[in-house]
Amino acid sequence: MPRRESYRPTRRSRGEIEAIVLSCLKQAAAPLGAYEVSEAAAKAGSNLAAMQVYRTLGRLVERGTVHRVESLSAYLAIDRPIDGLAICRMCRNIEALAAPELKRGLLEAISSAQFRAHRTVIEVIGLCARCQQREQAGLIGRGGPPSI
Ligand SMILES: [Zn+2]
Repeated sequence: MPRRESYRPTRRSRGEIEAIVLSCLKQAAAPLGAYEVSEAAAKAGSNLAAMQVYRTLGRLVERGTVHRVESLSAYLAIDRPIDGLAICRMCRNIEALAAPELKRGLLEAISSAQFRAHRTVIEVIGLCARCQQREQAGLIGRGGPPSI
């Protein structure tokens, strides 16, 4: 009589889980939501529970190796500090913006308003260069955003 395989979840260290999540984000063409990270990990042969992914993403965001894209409720692996994001409403291409003067000016204005900022999010929704060309060629409409 053949032995039945029992399901045993693989115990992984925090570091291993972080490496899997980071790898999924780096290989993705666009930012991924937590469930999409979980699906990508499963396709790569590493099953991760959604809660494991959420907790891991939280740690990676705190550490600055992952950035949360608020407009998309998704995450982006990034290896440098950024001051803002430009997000294409058509293809979801993202450009990380380096504009320290913008962030500094915003924080000064917030301070002048006697407001204490806990978090600053600078995200610009628009069209990337490729989608602008496609729009000019009539390949995409000028209508509203499909999802953002
Ligand atoms: Zn685009």
